Amino acid sequence: MRLAILLSLLLSASSPPWGGAMEVVSDGRYKGTAEEYRVGKTVYLSAKDVGSVYGAQVYWFPVSGRLKLSLRGRQLELMVGSDTAVLDGKRIPLGAQVILKGTEAFMPAGLLSTKEFSAWTGLRADLDGGKVLSVEKVSTVGPMRWSTHGRHTRLVVELEEGLVYKGSDRGVGGMDLVVLRGVVGAARSERVDDGRVASVSLAQEAGLARISVRFAGDGLNWKAGEIKDPRRLIVDVYSGDEPPPASGGRPAPSGGVAPAKAAARESREKRRFHIVIDPGHGGKDSGAVGRKGTLEKDVVLAVSQALARRLEEEDSLEVLMTRREDRFVPLAERSQAANEFGADLFISIHCNSSPKKIDNGFEIYFLSEKASDPDAARLTDLENSVLELEGKSVEEEEAEIILRAMSRTEFMNEAARFAAVLGKNLGKRLDVADRGVKQAGFYVLRGTDAPAVLLEMAYLSHRKDEARLGSKSFRKKVVEGVYRGIMEFVKEKQREKEGTAL
Ligand SMILES: [Zn+2]
Repeated sequence: MRLAILLSLLLSASSPPWGGAMEVVSDGRYKGTAEEYRVGKTVYLSAKDVGSVYGAQVYWFPVSGRLKLSLRGRQLELMVGSDTAVLDGKRIPLGAQVILKGTEAFMPAGLLSTKEFSAWTGLRADLDGGKVLSVEKVSTVGPMRWSTHGRHTRLVVELEEGLVYKGSDRGVGGMDLVVLRGVVGAARSERVDDGRVASVSLAQEAGLARISVRFAGDGLNWKAGEIKDPRRLIVDVYSGDEPPPASGGRPAPSGGVAPAKAAARESREKRRFHIVIDPGHGGKDSGAVGRKGTLEKDVVLAVSQALARRLEEEDSLEVLMTRREDRFVPLAERSQAANEFGADLFISIHCNSSPKKIDNGFEIYFLSEKASDPDAARLTDLENSVLELEGKSVEEEEAEIILRAMSRTEFMNEAARFAAVLGKNLGKRLDVADRGVKQAGFYVLRGTDAPAVLLEMAYLSHRKDEARLGSKSFRKKVVEGVYRGIMEFVKEKQREKEGTAL
């Protein structure tokens, strides 16, 4: 008995219950906090706060310990001391009991991530590492996007694993594809008018999602396929008999390809625009650390990986990441890898940090000889401080850098242009302050023989920004903004090239 008491004292001392507030980000927007309580690894959230996050009515009967949440006429019932919830008469296991703290009921947070809860609320919750409650509209089909290429028009639709689809011709004027039991988060209908495709749409119908393509003329064919991680449906529309090369998968590795084909592909590769994504820091260099312990190196890697996957869908692009895992890569190695790859554009991804706790928002830097303001100079010191970990001093590199930088005016102009396009595309999507485009002397940008910019997505030293950076929905918006910015810049460059070739 005494041993048991001692043991329980020891256990509670090593991992005491903890009360606090969990940050909530909904669809990329900061939504305040929900009261939380932790016992060991179990996270509980205040029933009242969960109700307000989801817009549900909360009925709390403290005497009986009964708790009812009502949303669009459907009830979720919980009971203090019970580890089961009841939704429309169906039981959902909670993994832990509903508890009482003071006079308030707290529910195990795991409930929010269950399929049943998502189906009830129409929102999908993600407890990203238990630090941030990230909520977004449920969608198993979409978003949808399209792009025009030399010989085909490509439609890409994100699709959850396990869903079954079926394509069919729609008379001669187009094609339809239905996804059984697909849920569309955001229905869309868009004009394309690129000579092949007149319009595309993604719509919700009873029990299915429908993707429709209307052709602009006759003699058009289509082919559907898939690519993975995440699963995406590809529909290519082309004229004539031969489908485009990469339909339904990545091009084969160069090993087993016939020489003629290899040569053809090589010339295609040459025309591709080479993009380097540089996730900052890694390994022993964590970068900035948030107040809740979020590490810059982790956030920037997650965003960079999602961005790379997105860019790899484009036939016109070739993508290189300077690191793909949590690994220390010296700055000089990053720019060297970019140069060997033949980079046309270099983008370094970071999170900001400041001793001024109120600083927040995103900003974009491109290389210059001198920093444009004192804050930019401070940031340069911060991002360059990794050089000390590498056992080099900034001065040692100075002479070589000055020489190289003299031939960089052209890249700097291009980088300034790209920075502006990037800023515009991010500003449209992000619910944070736009701190603008600045100049600074970042080391990693200096050694790169290409237009290079550095993006600081938001501040890890700012409470709300840290929550945003920790949420999937905010990261998705960053990826979308950077992707759009890159595509706009690439298209501009390609138009210029065609212009000079004529
Ligand atoms: Zn950084």
